[in-house]
Amino acid sequence: MAVADEIRSVLERFSRFLIAGHEDLDGDCIGSQLALYHWLKAEGKQAAVVSGGPTLSNYSFLPGYDQVRPQVPEGFEADVTLCVDTGSAQRILPGVRVQGLVVNIDHHPGNTHFGDLNWVEPNAAAVGEMIFLLLQGFGRPLPLAAAVCLYMAILTDSGSFRYSKTSARTFEVATALVHAGVSPHAVANAYYDNVHPDTVRLTGEVFGTLHYELDGRLVWARITREMYERCGGVECQPEQLASQMRSIRGVEVAVLFHEMEDSTGRASLRSRGRVDASLVSAELGGGGHPSAAGVRFQGDFSANCERILEAVRRHIIAQLSAAKPDEPET
Ligand code: 5GP
Ligand code: MN
Repeated sequence: MAVADEIRSVLERFSRFLIAGHEDLDGDCIGSQLALYHWLKAEGKQAAVVSGGPTLSNYSFLPGYDQVRPQVPEGFEADVTLCVDTGSAQRILPGVRVQGLVVNIDHHPGNTHFGDLNWVEPNAAAVGEMIFLLLQGFGRPLPLAAAVCLYMAILTDSGSFRYSKTSARTFEVATALVHAGVSPHAVANAYYDNVHPDTVRLTGEVFGTLHYELDGRLVWARITREMYERCGGVECQPEQLASQMRSIRGVEVAVLFHEMEDSTGRASLRSRGRVDASLVSAELGGGGHPSAAGVRFQGDFSANCERILEAVRRHIIAQLSAAKPDEPET
């Protein structure tokens, strides 16, 4: 039996589901989680969605977002934990203890197959694309609330249908979601065209302090606590800024460092395609995709930034010189 069929059988047989995802929530993770939630509730099942990270008002339009909990609700006992968009057990939102049968649905190439059932499709543009196929397999109409969440998942993780894993299937799924009643304009308007003025100020600071190296092939910047506080940018989404930095002409790799509370930090790595950013992040204890990867770190912020930059520079030089000069960009 194909693993998607096995997962459908699990969704039918069991009744209490914990729906988990990774730390530093993103649109694919929360959209996929909420779509599963809406489906299960419509089937009369019990379901709890746990997610973490700053509460971003850009997600609050998602149907069911008010049901998301930072921790497993008191006394909630699950038969099954559905874990989406999470490459390894260590990436599961801290504090979430998986319960019962663990079902791992993901599209990260390096997924560690930590579940009892593992469905990993590295070619999917988003986990949302996989969840659509999973639910479509039941042959029943998709609730509009689930369709909106899946559209959000696919829109954000495909970079608005621009990134390399965007395929004919991605558009077919998006078309089906629009047929189910999703308004692409309404979702884009609520998520993208809704930038907090603090974020605009912070964006100005980041783009005013870019560091170029290696003839403009590498660009990096930092968001320090001090910048955060000066701009009040509590709703800043560093992932989006990192992706914008990659779109600068000539840039192969963009790195955005983000100093967080409790002397922790994050580095968001973005590659245009010729350098595999996931090889850099794997070396540094992080993970992700060839074109979008990340690392979390602890301790002195500047020292960590320098340590990570050193690895990034080394990888850019080695990977670009190993590539054939006329190799097309992907
Ligand atoms: P972002 O820069 O958007 O936070 O992350 C880009 C990609 O790398 C995402 O697919 C994300 O799941 C992954 N990623 C980011 N940080 C980490 C990390 O600390 N560990 C692992 N394993 N993956 C990460
Ligand atoms: Mn994803």
